[in-house]
Amino acid sequence: MSSIIQLLPDHVANQIAAGEVVQRPASVVKELLENAVDADATDIKLIIKDAGKSLVQVIDNGKGMSVTDARLCFERHATSKIRQAEDLFSLCTKGFRGEALASIAAIAHMEMKTRQDQEELGTHIVIEGSKFVSQEVAVLPKGTSFAVKNLFFNIPARRNFLKSDTVEFRHVMDEFQRVALAHPNIHFTFYHNGSEMYNLPAAGYRQRIVGIMSGKTNEKLVPVNEDTEIINVQGFVCKPEFAKKSRGEQFFFVNDRFIKSGYLHHAVMAAYEGLLKEGSQPSYFLYLQVPPNTIDINIHPTKTEIKFDDEQALYAILRASIKHSLGQFNVAPVLDFDRDSNLDTPYHYKDLEAETPTIQIDGNFNPFTDDKTNQHYSKANSGSGYSSGSSSSSGALHSGSSYSGYSKRVEPTASWESLYVGLDLDNAESIESSPFTFENEEVTSSLFNDDEVEQASQKTYQIHKKYIVSPIKSGMVIVDQQRAHQRILYEQFLLNMTVNQASSQQLLFPLNLFYSSDEMALIEELKPSLETTGFVFEKAQTDHIVISGIPVNITESEVSLVIEQLLSDLQEGIPASSYSQNDTIAKSMAKSLAVKTGSYLTETEQDNLVNGLFACKDPNISPFQKPTFITMRVEDIDKKFAL
Ligand code: ADP
Ligand code: MG
Repeated sequence: MSSIIQLLPDHVANQIAAGEVVQRPASVVKELLENAVDADATDIKLIIKDAGKSLVQVIDNGKGMSVTDARLCFERHATSKIRQAEDLFSLCTKGFRGEALASIAAIAHMEMKTRQDQEELGTHIVIEGSKFVSQEVAVLPKGTSFAVKNLFFNIPARRNFLKSDTVEFRHVMDEFQRVALAHPNIHFTFYHNGSEMYNLPAAGYRQRIVGIMSGKTNEKLVPVNEDTEIINVQGFVCKPEFAKKSRGEQFFFVNDRFIKSGYLHHAVMAAYEGLLKEGSQPSYFLYLQVPPNTIDINIHPTKTEIKFDDEQALYAILRASIKHSLGQFNVAPVLDFDRDSNLDTPYHYKDLEAETPTIQIDGNFNPFTDDKTNQHYSKANSGSGYSSGSSSSSGALHSGSSYSGYSKRVEPTASWESLYVGLDLDNAESIESSPFTFENEEVTSSLFNDDEVEQASQKTYQIHKKYIVSPIKSGMVIVDQQRAHQRILYEQFLLNMTVNQASSQQLLFPLNLFYSSDEMALIEELKPSLETTGFVFEKAQTDHIVISGIPVNITESEVSLVIEQLLSDLQEGIPASSYSQNDTIAKSMAKSLAVKTGSYLTETEQDNLVNGLFACKDPNISPFQKPTFITMRVEDIDKKFAL
């Protein structure tokens, strides 16, 4: 039989290798930035178009390449960074596999300009799909510029596989941030579609972190410093009170290379033990230096995972040094020895007589005069609550004013109306009769018609701060409070968003919330949908948003939590269709705002919850497809007793 094995032609081998190295525009960004860093550049520019799909360009002022090297760098396994196998154990460069340029050139249109400092003229090469198109001598500035256009032009399947520009841009942003954070001593600039995303002058770690994240980051950081024989740890962790919902800002750098390590992450989390709210994630920026011969970077083509010789020791050192820092900066709980003595009851008070409280009576109070009755939330006037859908506040389990006593309500004034921007004027009547309470609203419900509900004085009971039990004619219903409230809020948000008539409460002082630039980009995209829920945004700044109005069923203190949850839920990208975008937002907001298991609910709140649930279109399941309630018929209970 004839032999059938052949060596693959280079351009095919390169395309196959590209599959591993180049998954998306962000991979090109990473490789080119790392090459520029390896070339000892002090100034690096990244320019991209359409999230890198049409152009990724990196311009550096590094050492450049000779004519021969300029040609050779596109060959596979062509590298200046290692010469022999032993060099793998003393790596100080980002690259060493000599694959990146060959791979990128195999699947894109590429143009390179490079000049070494000592040369007068440089080299200009154009290469497309591994084929050299032209090579010329040219007058060029010192350093190297790579422009990569039309990525995957010859592999349509890969090109179609790319995600939306938003998603691809986030990946590019991630790679840029990782390289820029690892090398604060290099000046980086980053442009996307002609606008400047970052301009980061050479600086120290702290400034660089603040430059990349946001202005507010500085006050959140606690320095970490530890020098031992096997590892040097430097960097910052964030104070526990600033922990976030998402894992967005967690960075490990080992010998100036960004890496992912579940094991080391665990060490950090262990240092925070007892300091974080459940499910929250601290930000950290940790720079580890280890002797190059104690790690193996060669275990992953993109080099983001590495193997340490002595992982356990690193774990212990990392945990201890972070714990120490958190303690030193007074963020760990400490025993309160310096108690303020002013707070103690003075000793002589024990001999004093208790004073009889005086009673103040409003002699003019007459419950039957007109103006007073207007101040009450009239049951009859308050509209039909859930079923009408016109009252956006009905998802709130309680409203502040209803608890502060009947006489506290402030008279409506002319300026009062301006607080509720966006309300339909046709609904003015129902506004007057207060949309902001729920307590007294009669809710029509299919399960709980007047004659069906037991006429006992208390209709609901809360058990284990988790379930609400309520008798019904045929037996009883047990409602999961958290899931039920999620369902109520979800339907409300969705309704508001689709009919676009959500009302806002205007804030007295606009809220400034700071975010990193990729979070800002995400928020910018979500704005139209968020506005339909009742948010009102002022013109955004580069690193923060200004909110002047919020949905009526949110309190001011909940706003940042809601947005954080939203950002965390949308990390995988914003759904393309506006329907599923609204759905995701409604789900996310329902999740953050719903009462949680473990919260005590007053009788009225329990009542409202149960009624609200059964006024929903789909009361049986939570927005996350979990059952919201179960029923037990009297016969079922009888059966149990018959045993
Ligand atoms: P690696 O980085 O693994 O060596 P690459 O394919 O990324 O492989 O690059 C091949 C070689 O091209 C590098 O070893 C380096 O000598 C040279 N090179 C690449 N980019 C630059 C640059 N921006 N400036 C100077 N030399 C570069
Ligand atoms: Mg490289």
